[in-house]
Amino acid sequence: MGRLACLLAALLIAPAARAGFTVETLAPGVIAFVRTEPAGMMFDANNLAVIGEDAVLVVDSNATGESSREVIRALRRITPKPVRYLVNTHWHLDHFEGNAAWREAYPGLEIVGHEATRQELAGIGARNRAGMLEFGPGMVEALRKRVAGGRDRGGRPLDAETKAAYASDADQAGRYLEATRSVLFLPPTIEVRDRLTIRLGARTVEVIHPGPGHTRADLVVWLPAERIVATGDLVALPVPLIGNTARPLEYPATLERVLGLQALVYLPGHGPVIRDDAPVRRVLALVKAIRDGVKASVAAGETLEETRRRVDLAAFRESFAGTSRWRGTLFDMYVVQPALEAAWRQAHEAS
Ligand SMILES: [Zn+2]
Repeated sequence: MGRLACLLAALLIAPAARAGFTVETLAPGVIAFVRTEPAGMMFDANNLAVIGEDAVLVVDSNATGESSREVIRALRRITPKPVRYLVNTHWHLDHFEGNAAWREAYPGLEIVGHEATRQELAGIGARNRAGMLEFGPGMVEALRKRVAGGRDRGGRPLDAETKAAYASDADQAGRYLEATRSVLFLPPTIEVRDRLTIRLGARTVEVIHPGPGHTRADLVVWLPAERIVATGDLVALPVPLIGNTARPLEYPATLERVLGLQALVYLPGHGPVIRDDAPVRRVLALVKAIRDGVKASVAAGETLEETRRRVDLAAFRESFAGTSRWRGTLFDMYVVQPALEAAWRQAHEAS
């Protein structure tokens, strides 16, 4: 703990500039808070506020209470109505750790989450968090050194995009580490298995579990009258976040159910508002390629290494990352490395 405290003290001396979020009205009374930090290893989550007749529903909290309090201040400038429901699209901490700040601001708040949330938080969630606390300070220190020296881990000069992302990651990770040691985790008070309808006066909100995908406990929030859907991390840009807690074999069917809603507007878990379904279909094509390639490989009795060689995701890497070296790195980090392994393990579980 002493070492961590020293590192954190060092971080406090050199805070990076805050990026924050933009506020976008998607329909009357439907407001998106869209994060503006560069895509990186650390993300904060987008939020959605749905303003009803006498109360508000919010989708997702944030990586820290501090981030949530900034969104709460912005929301209070828009409406004096209290937030009655906070829906967590999944239990990943960047969508969840700010729950206590929302409850503090709105004491009557109900927290809506998938019924597997408590179990996931206590298991893989606790392990991930312990890993972050153990390795996070070293990561922050390394990133700050790379930014200061202008060189990446391999000694190559940093391009501007990578440098900005490293600086943002170090800043966010530093604040996260500082906050997470004392955070109060507030699990759902209302649990959803398949579907829940919430009426905010005349406005209808559907909370739907479309199936496992980004995690086994994903929820989407659907506004049928406005045809707006908040997808959580089932959809994220500029690169998909599939990750090691994904269920890649079920992901395509789950995403097809989301596409079946025929939304006009998608608010992804991270990245800008999407106003046509083309980016969602690109994610679908990617997860189908992973599912089908890994299934074929496992059916042929191949090892994980053989599967990695067989399932070639280079075209998808180029489609999501373009010529950006940094986005290519993120694609490898969030898709190629974890998703193939998660799919391979899942295929063995099923057989
Ligand atoms: Zn996530």
